[in-house]
Amino acid sequence: MASLSLVNVCKTFKNGQIAVKDFNLDIKDEEFLILVGPSGCGKSTTLRMIAGLEEISSGELWIDGALMNLTVPQKRDLAMVFQSYALYPHLTVYENIAFSLRVRNIPQIEIEERVKKAADILCIRHLLDRKPFALSGGQKQRVAIGSVIVRKPKAYLMDEPLSNLDAKLRTQMRVELSKIHKELGATIIYVTHDQVEAMTLGTKIVVMNAGVIQQAAPPEVLYNNPVNKFVAGFIGSPSMNFIPVWVERREERICIVFSNNRLFLNEDNAHCLIESGYLGRRVYLGIRPEDFHETGPKEQAIKLKVEIKEVLGSDILLHGKIGGNPICGRLKPDFPSEAGTEVSIFADMNRILLFDLDTEENIL
Ligand code: ATP
Repeated sequence: MASLSLVNVCKTFKNGQIAVKDFNLDIKDEEFLILVGPSGCGKSTTLRMIAGLEEISSGELWIDGALMNLTVPQKRDLAMVFQSYALYPHLTVYENIAFSLRVRNIPQIEIEERVKKAADILCIRHLLDRKPFALSGGQKQRVAIGSVIVRKPKAYLMDEPLSNLDAKLRTQMRVELSKIHKELGATIIYVTHDQVEAMTLGTKIVVMNAGVIQQAAPPEVLYNNPVNKFVAGFIGSPSMNFIPVWVERREERICIVFSNNRLFLNEDNAHCLIESGYLGRRVYLGIRPEDFHETGPKEQAIKLKVEIKEVLGSDILLHGKIGGNPICGRLKPDFPSEAGTEVSIFADMNRILLFDLDTEENIL
């Protein structure tokens, strides 16, 4: 497998649309790299530039130390799985998977070995004699993935390969893709707009917005230390809650103040805010739904009028508003709460984040 490097890569389409700006990234051998972000942020364009299906307007693409900007797709030795998987309808599953090996004149015995191994990894060995019409959507998608993983390219490029599957199959296939990554020791570059897929599959996630990388980091770093409000709001489900608050000194302690609430900061955060000159200023408080608790010091209680209660089984989600800002809290199922009532919840002050009101950068 291979390592890739993108240096100041930009893409401007003929109509003037700037899809990717100044993209800089090193992708290590065996990395499962995820490109994630809202619709239109430039994920597919980036992948297509790596594949050679889209010209790079400026910047450099290196694969294993060789400059690839002008190399045709067939010579880049990359394998791509698309959202719309195409199978040959007249060929069996076996022949569909074997196809890319046959055109490369691989010996029959090796083809057989590789097809069976791919079929085992994807749990489709019992389907090898069937034709595509006799397969379910999920099985077809697995065959499409099989026809790519039999090859041993430098890297696999995948553009939303699970998007046509129902929720249960998606979950199953997520696990299978993780296994494939480990078993093949593969370098995978994977596009999705599904942040759960991103978090569970990626060894490194690149969050993009409007053609620009916002943050590139392992999943737990993105979750715990997002660089800005965009990343904080994009990663995590339900999304992080944001409330504009004042930073003030009260009773010799530093606190954040918003609609009748006063929350004391822990010493580290208080120190950090004073040092960076935020005392007396307004900032965004960011708190994840799971960082609200049922109990806490009385004076730190946050009153939430519950508008909607969602029962998830293992948890409940309480939705309401604080000072006009929509708030969601994830609490234990036995927490007494009903729509229309007011509850007291407590923010875990060691887990809160604060963001600059103008730059939206993480302050803490
Ligand atoms: P999605 O999640 O919806 O697939 P994406 O993040 O993959 O989105 P891209 O398909 O890379 O986004 O598109 C990035 C931007 O470039 C979008 O604004 C899109 O409209 C634009 N774009 C894509 N292809 C072309 C094209 N051939 N000509 C002009 N603009 C294009």
